[in-house]
Amino acid sequence: MDFQRRLTRVVNIGGVPLGGTYPVRVQTMTNLPTADIDGQVAQILRSVKAGAEYVRITTPTLADVEYLQQIKNRLSKGVPAFAGMTSASNGIIPLIADVHFSPKVAIAAAKVAAKVRINPGNFLRTTDNRQPITDNRSYLDQLHAIMRPLLGVCKEHGTALRIGTNHGSLSERILNQYGDTPEGMVQATLEAVRICQSENFHDIVVSLKSSNVKVMVEATRLLVQRMDQEGMDYPLHLGVTEAGEGEDGRLKSAIGIGSLLVDGIGDTIRVSLTEDPEFEIPVAFGILQASRARITRTEYISCPGCGRTTFKLQEAVKKVKEATAHLTGMKIAVMGCIVNGPGEMADADYGYVGAGPGKVHIYKGKNAVLKNVAEDQAVEKLLEIINYVDKS
Ligand code: SF4
Repeated sequence: MDFQRRLTRVVNIGGVPLGGTYPVRVQTMTNLPTADIDGQVAQILRSVKAGAEYVRITTPTLADVEYLQQIKNRLSKGVPAFAGMTSASNGIIPLIADVHFSPKVAIAAAKVAAKVRINPGNFLRTTDNRQPITDNRSYLDQLHAIMRPLLGVCKEHGTALRIGTNHGSLSERILNQYGDTPEGMVQATLEAVRICQSENFHDIVVSLKSSNVKVMVEATRLLVQRMDQEGMDYPLHLGVTEAGEGEDGRLKSAIGIGSLLVDGIGDTIRVSLTEDPEFEIPVAFGILQASRARITRTEYISCPGCGRTTFKLQEAVKKVKEATAHLTGMKIAVMGCIVNGPGEMADADYGYVGAGPGKVHIYKGKNAVLKNVAEDQAVEKLLEIINYVDKS
């Protein structure tokens, strides 16, 4: 089945385009104080080496914007091109300023960063968001007035803007009106997006994040529905906030981000782990691969094995993976028996299927092209078939 991705507009992020038919981009965020320039640069380089295409840095104050500039200067000669690195535009890794609150800081950051992230839930600090505001017009007028200069600077510097709403930081006004709901998250986001549109600013990326996977998925689906109704085609950034660490964090991220990717939603992802940023990257590429949103390596399909298995299945999977790890974009199946294996290996390009004790059939698509190959020669024969077909 072909992957149908929701078509979004292309937004330039420091020379590495996002959206449209560009690959779903992988990003991460550093976790050190912004003032730790050496530490930041080292983390960024490790993240780029792992495959990060954008790196976000927390920039809550004007002093942090200065540090961001210093980090950018340190990286201005370009980052080393690593094997498999598809990201950097002329070796320059786009830096994203994570601002959240302050319009003044956002304006300063927009002159330095490739993209600035603001949070509509806490961006308007000229009024106290903790006090209920019932006069929507007045609030929106204030928000508009405060966003206008930022959008002007973004236009002037070619800087993109992420309108990043978080479930945990909705304003009191939104909470009073819509409650702590996906609808509230959607409304808070759309208010800011409409202001950008009215200023003819369209270099926007949107995100709705929550540590609750169901809320994150439901809110993002709802946002896409509403954006489609309003003819908005802005790219989506996906992530589960505070996902945790280890297996828990990986599972939560895979479910939240993966559910949306298989819907065809999502243009950039960040796997948010309580670990150093470079460890997020392989997880992100794994999620993209598993959801078939971005294929960067061979996909393996293998059955668990059962009483019908007639050879050492686990060993065979390991051997096939080792022998074919250099291939990309292929689907290779290793199945325990010819009774169910060929049917269950679905759309695999090649198959290694147990045919009897110590015997393997090699499949190309749904056809057994070599039959009853001795198990100790089967991997070699599989490679021959792949090479033969590739050359033909
Ligand atoms: S494909 Fe065959 S060996 Fe594998 S689990 Fe199914 S029935 Fe068992």
